[in-house]
Amino acid sequence: MRTWSHWINGHSVTGTSSRTSPVFNPATGEQTGVVALASVEDVESVLEVASGAGVTWRDSSLSSRTRVLFAFREIVARRLDDLASLISEQHGKVLSDARGEVQRGLEVVEYACGIPSLLKGEYSDQVSGGVDAFSYRQPLGVVVGITPFNFPAMVPMWMFPLAIATGNTFVLKPSERDPGASLLLAEMWEEAGLPAGVFNVLQGDVEVVNALLDHPLVDAVSFVGSTPVARAIYQRARAAGKRVQALGGAKNHSVILPDADPDFVAEHLVASAFGSAGERCMAISTSVLVGASADAVLERVVERARRVVVGPGHEPRSEMGPVITPAAKERIESIVSASVAEGAQVLVDGRNFSVPGYEGGFFVGPTVVDGVAPHMGVYQQEIFGPVLSNVRVDTVDEAIALVNANPYGNGTAIFTSSGEAARRFHREVKVGMIGINVPIPVPMAYYSFGGWKDSLFGDHHVYGPEGVRFYTRAKAVTQRWPERRGEVGATFSFPTQT
Ligand code: NAD
Repeated sequence: MRTWSHWINGHSVTGTSSRTSPVFNPATGEQTGVVALASVEDVESVLEVASGAGVTWRDSSLSSRTRVLFAFREIVARRLDDLASLISEQHGKVLSDARGEVQRGLEVVEYACGIPSLLKGEYSDQVSGGVDAFSYRQPLGVVVGITPFNFPAMVPMWMFPLAIATGNTFVLKPSERDPGASLLLAEMWEEAGLPAGVFNVLQGDVEVVNALLDHPLVDAVSFVGSTPVARAIYQRARAAGKRVQALGGAKNHSVILPDADPDFVAEHLVASAFGSAGERCMAISTSVLVGASADAVLERVVERARRVVVGPGHEPRSEMGPVITPAAKERIESIVSASVAEGAQVLVDGRNFSVPGYEGGFFVGPTVVDGVAPHMGVYQQEIFGPVLSNVRVDTVDEAIALVNANPYGNGTAIFTSSGEAARRFHREVKVGMIGINVPIPVPMAYYSFGGWKDSLFGDHHVYGPEGVRFYTRAKAVTQRWPERRGEVGATFSFPTQT
């Protein structure tokens, strides 16, 4: 059994605590290792290292930072399969999906390679006689990233490429469920020539998170995880004076209008509800079927859902792997059972699912529930499993009202052939990321990612232009270089342009 530990100052470090948490292979159900849980003393040492490394890193030239980023990009691309198989083994997602997650993270690294252009400031010549003004942005200092289990490479890569490119140092606190990817990424940074101490990994749980949030050496916190934790982290870190972005959970609706092609819709709904076993913050968990064509769509969804190949992530045939823990499996199944008690109909039942040869794995089969109403638990809770709930409404207005009444606002999609309906939908929904005939509208690296309402606490989305702004603060300089000694010309009144 392997022990996954910390990465501090360019080395693998055991830490001072003997506390650990088990790491499983969700496809077999076997424990494959343990992850060290850091102590408060470990928090002190990693922050001293990160703070010390920042003194030189913040003054490194843009070209030297860019060279490291380009090298890192090449190493991740070369070792993409190593990273993907480690993710698949600890998370359970299928290999092709794990590769996809690394690829999307890599795109943020590629965006960060353009940091010399992204950090260009503004300059105004001669704002007054002999006076010029300019602005530029400087790094914050030490940035902490706290990340969820469901994207152990991509979500950290939403954060650290830009945090580091803009001159900060970074401490990653990954999920204790799948700690491996973070350490492989740390080794890749070292190989890329990043100075020791600029990127660090501290494994741990709530004890470590709280010590990081309260610590005076931490300047900013990027968090991604569930809504209750996001809210608590935002409040605690803000109270301690940090800059914070805390992305939370989701309940993404896909609205299907009668003019959409039912075959196209069914294929895309099934893939977006059951891909990664529904453990994506952008998974479609609710379809809102508008009007008369609901049955035609649902019939196709049921047929396709029954054909989803469920199996271990490393099997090339598998389309969907297990969920993360036995507790997650139990929770998902009990939400489905409760929906039956509340009057919903289970059209495809993934409860008590087992994969031959992998009987110990944490598998839940694709599940399709019809007749769902907004008061039911299956509608209200973020299930984070392979369950697609179907709600039927009569009009687009009702569909938009449903999306807007939901406390989450991460992603949503509309399927239609009407440009007019699509335009109205994207303008009226209170959601951060919207797809038009695109069920999982994750923005490209040169846009930014973020939800509304309970899906994001803070003012900035992650990566893209908002990421650059989040990890830097602005300075505006007004300068004068008097041409002749003895030229004074000061005034006691507030200066105006002359
Ligand atoms: P989680 O909230 O349980 O954990 C996230 C991180 O917070 C982990 O590093 C964990 O160790 C830490 N943590 C957990 N409980 C804590 C506590 N009480 N105090 C301090 N830290 C704590 O989330 P998860 O189960 O790992 O991930 C799934 C959740 O993440 C889902 O809700 C999903 O929607 C959300 N998510 C959101 C996005 C997004 O972009 N909005 C992206 C991915 C995942």
